[in-house]
Amino acid sequence: MPKAEESVLEIDLNALAHNFKTIKSQLSPGVKFMSVIKAYAYGNDSVAMAKKLEELDTDYFAVAYTEEGIKLREAGVSKPILILHPQPVNYPEIIENCLEPNLYSARTLQLFIDIAEKQKQKNYPVHLKFNTGMNRLGFTETNYHHIPEKIGKTESVKVVSAFSHLAASEDWKEREFTLSQIYKFKDLAGKLIDDIRYEPLLHLCNTSAIFNYPSATFSMVRSGLGLYGFANDPNLDEKLKPVGTLKTVISQIQNLKEGDTVGYSRAFKAEKITKTATIPIGHADGIKRIYGHGKAGVFVNGEYAPIVGNVCMDIIMIDVTHIDCQEGDEVIIFGGPQHVTKLAGAGGTISYELITGISQRVKRVIIQ
Ligand SMILES: *Cc1c(COP(=O)(O)O)cnc(C)c1O
Repeated sequence: MPKAEESVLEIDLNALAHNFKTIKSQLSPGVKFMSVIKAYAYGNDSVAMAKKLEELDTDYFAVAYTEEGIKLREAGVSKPILILHPQPVNYPEIIENCLEPNLYSARTLQLFIDIAEKQKQKNYPVHLKFNTGMNRLGFTETNYHHIPEKIGKTESVKVVSAFSHLAASEDWKEREFTLSQIYKFKDLAGKLIDDIRYEPLLHLCNTSAIFNYPSATFSMVRSGLGLYGFANDPNLDEKLKPVGTLKTVISQIQNLKEGDTVGYSRAFKAEKITKTATIPIGHADGIKRIYGHGKAGVFVNGEYAPIVGNVCMDIIMIDVTHIDCQEGDEVIIFGGPQHVTKLAGAGGTISYELITGISQRVKRVIIQ
């Protein structure tokens, strides 16, 4: 890999392929794979990821918002794309771009049917979401009856899948709750099949559930985090390869005497002779202020260098007193010696938030 000469997020497509195949190998033959590439493929690059995943023969894509789906279509992505969280205002664009909406309530189902009918659509593919305990989106047992009532009266839409989402698939302490969600889903899916008299795809598992509840994969799974190399569990993380490595470079070295201070609010005060390095990355790039004051660090020439003082918008200072290094040397923020989960933990957050938070101004470099 080339040495970083500025802040870059390196994206390793071979790692993505490894993760896709590893997760796929957990599934029974015939179970379909939906690749979740919302939020720029968790901060990576949704178009590059989608192209590679199409090559690997993923069956489906999912993104959160309509705009994300349109961007993929404009880049030539042709596999079906589920929009997980659309709003009715988006429906015309969804149809225009051959995207497939998640309809999660009587209101959204009716509004989509109205538009599809007005456009004289036949069997337009839609997905129905059940709320089995997450209490975020979806039809419950109580309002399920709207589905057969509305779907039975129209030929404009076809239910291509029904799904639900688990609230705690990574947490063994919540096993009983997760099992109750699985039973509820089975029950609602059974009702749906009886009512519409055909069998749509059924999917419930996210990455952690694929590993922790292998008998609940139904006919499709939805994996996001695992594709990018993490699975909320150190043992599972070992099977996967992190796709992204966030690197930067030393801009300048400062030699401090006792009593010198560093950065805004003079937040770091040297108690002895100290050598710091200044690096071109900051909270506007997604490395939040919480990581300052030694809470977290980065790696320089294989050695750990804690962050000193406050994280600035575009700059961070690190303590390299004990590291043999010079201006122009590479710095690793995460990837390689620094696991994303560990860095996220140091800031009191989770891998999902850290990687999706790397802002778009950080250059993405795709490694084939
Ligand atoms: C984001 C998301 C996923 C992917 O979950 P991972 O834990 O990243 O695999 C699956 N389903 C829904 C509904 C989501 O919002």
